[in-house]
Amino acid sequence: MLPTKGYATHAAHEPLKPFSFERRELAATDVQIEILFCGVCHSDLHIVRNEWGGTIYPCVPGHEIVGRVVKVGREGRKFKEGDLAAVGCLVDSDRVCENCRAGLEQFCEGVSFTYNSKDRHTGGVTYGGYSKGIVVDQDFVLRLSDKLDPAAAAPLLCAGITTYSPLRKWKVGRGQKVGVVGLGGLGHMALKFASAFGADVTLFTTSEGKLADAKRLGAHEVVISKDDAAMQKQQKRFDFIIDTVSAPHDLNAYLTLLKRDGALVLVGIPPEPVPIHAFHLVTPRRQLAGSLIGGIPETQEMLDFCADRGIACEIEMIPISKINEAYERMLKSDVKYRFVIDMASLG
Ligand code: NAP
Ligand code: ZN
Repeated sequence: MLPTKGYATHAAHEPLKPFSFERRELAATDVQIEILFCGVCHSDLHIVRNEWGGTIYPCVPGHEIVGRVVKVGREGRKFKEGDLAAVGCLVDSDRVCENCRAGLEQFCEGVSFTYNSKDRHTGGVTYGGYSKGIVVDQDFVLRLSDKLDPAAAAPLLCAGITTYSPLRKWKVGRGQKVGVVGLGGLGHMALKFASAFGADVTLFTTSEGKLADAKRLGAHEVVISKDDAAMQKQQKRFDFIIDTVSAPHDLNAYLTLLKRDGALVLVGIPPEPVPIHAFHLVTPRRQLAGSLIGGIPETQEMLDFCADRGIACEIEMIPISKINEAYERMLKSDVKYRFVIDMASLG
């Protein structure tokens, strides 16, 4: 086994702290990665604090991983030592089911997420990217162009793909009016992608102070969602709205902004259920849907698109010792617009 260090939490109400554990020895097609940077996703916070239920402790979070390949298994063909590599939310799946064959491994019944998931190699639980190193099968390791800054690319592995995938699936593009709800990690990437795809983009935010940033990131218009009169003016104007909000909020207020056949797609996952008024869906035949990250082929497509178009995340780099403080700031919507842990700080 390969000893490594990381940060873990041991109970829902405890802070993250240093934790020593082991990664598996390399199997034939495994890749061993020295982690350079790991993004901090709001899902890390939900899971660390057991807000969705099912957290297994100790929990080492982190699924926005960029690093350097230090070793490959004896049958490894995809990477060589020294390559830049990335790992997102997925590290394994059954490879044979309908979802896997469609490149949608995130929906496989046998999927292993990067942390807090069954680890079929060790029989234990997967540990994520708030650590020095990780061992992952090459099929779940992404190539990263050296045109991208590795730290600013790290959040593409979750915030990037989670917003890219539904925008592609609902064919968002030129001539469409698109809304993005919430300007955090996911929201800022949704603004960048929707505007790169040519849509007319409006941000809905609770934070008045984010107006100028939103415009710089690709919003053509910004609406303060607490302002009822401003919301009223937006009724029935939108083809597509992506909702990235992490806390409970009124979805009816966004459904009524959609035109006939418009879609409200949820990617944010507040822990509590929210009531929906059926009339808002039924009358102009609106759609309410959800979307979960993206499969491996689409994640590679998104990374290549970002390298081609010079798209990356706006980050605030932190040493790992500041992770508990970063979570508190994330809860106050005080993130511009993704924390990334510099793993060199782990010592
Ligand atoms: P984040 O950086 O904390 O951003 C969330 C944003 O939501 C905040 O910046 C804030 O934006 C808005 N917000 C927060 N509390 C609010 C409230 N009470 N009412 C209205 N707006 C509020 O979080 P993130 O990392 O982008 O993640 C967002 C959500 O997506 C989380 O629930 C996360 O678990 C989920 N997620 C889902 C997937 C998936 O595959 N579906 C993948 C990754 C993450 P403003 O200041 O602009 O209002
Ligand atoms: Zn995430």
